[in-house]
Amino acid sequence: MGRWQKTVMPFLGLVLAFWFYSARENFKPEMLKGKRVIVTGASTGIGEQMAYHLARMGAHVVITARTEAKLHQVAERCRELGAASARYISGTMEDMAFADRVVKEAGTLLGGLDMLILNHVGASYFGYYNGDVEHVRKLLEINFLSYVAMTTSALPMLKESEGSIVVVSSMAGKVGFPFTVPYSATKFALDGFFSSLRQEFAMQKVNVSITLCILGFIDTERAVRAAAGLLLSVPAPRAECALEIVRAGALRLRELYYRYGSTRLPLLLRDCAADLLDYLVRSRYRL
Ligand code: NAP
Repeated sequence: MGRWQKTVMPFLGLVLAFWFYSARENFKPEMLKGKRVIVTGASTGIGEQMAYHLARMGAHVVITARTEAKLHQVAERCRELGAASARYISGTMEDMAFADRVVKEAGTLLGGLDMLILNHVGASYFGYYNGDVEHVRKLLEINFLSYVAMTTSALPMLKESEGSIVVVSSMAGKVGFPFTVPYSATKFALDGFFSSLRQEFAMQKVNVSITLCILGFIDTERAVRAAAGLLLSVPAPRAECALEIVRAGALRLRELYYRYGSTRLPLLLRDCAADLLDYLVRSRYRL
């Protein structure tokens, strides 16, 4: 065995383990106190839970989605939980002018922005690809293009605050998944855009972090309903998932894998045994 394998590899392993675990231990809820945060898709599901966590931590939150009545309730609950302030702006992310307006209005209301959490997702079907190209285009606008539009509008404020962008993606954005072809395409697009943008930030010394969140199956109403009877996996709790996303953003992690065992570990097979990984993914479906 060469010197490299005997000494450098174990040392590198120790350094990586130290970095990974110390980053996790350093999180403190006070990190979010007084921070100005936008959460999209916050009328329900993981986004709603993120808004509640941020509220408990004393952040200023601006939440958005289409359903105004639900946003009203979530904002009220955020105030009860201790948010420094909680406001909402309702509208659809099919409209790029709305995506831009949310950021501008939030910036005016909050006097700047520290964190942009991009989480909303448009409705899609759970089944074999049906050839509907128009649906793919519409989903790309909601799940991808509006993320780009909001990021573009928010960048001047985030550069000033040296803030963070948190992008909620999926295992289906790292490996091909059956029954979610249009959705999967939009999540792969997010990885391409935001991972490339992160590279440019490093080259241009822009101190804005980008955290890409790779989620497995989570117990939100929409996901559980869509997968009922078809997916054999057990969903993870949305409140815990939401907290992990907020922590990852605060710690400025490059990527979050939740839950680690069902996302990061299988992905290790991607480069060395792609067919095996595909088989394992398919084996989770009941046909
Ligand atoms: P969800 O419960 O379906 O919530 C989606 C949110 O997006 C809602 O607040 C919804 O509110 C909003 N939304 C939908 N269409 C919109 C539109 N056209 N314009 C603006 N807002 C819109 O979703 P979730 O399960 O919490 O998922 C949250 C994120 O996690 C998504 O990015 C998803 O891809 C990712 N993820 C989830 C799972 C899972 O198993 N749940 C797994 C992997 C990744 P309105 O209907 O009021 O607009």
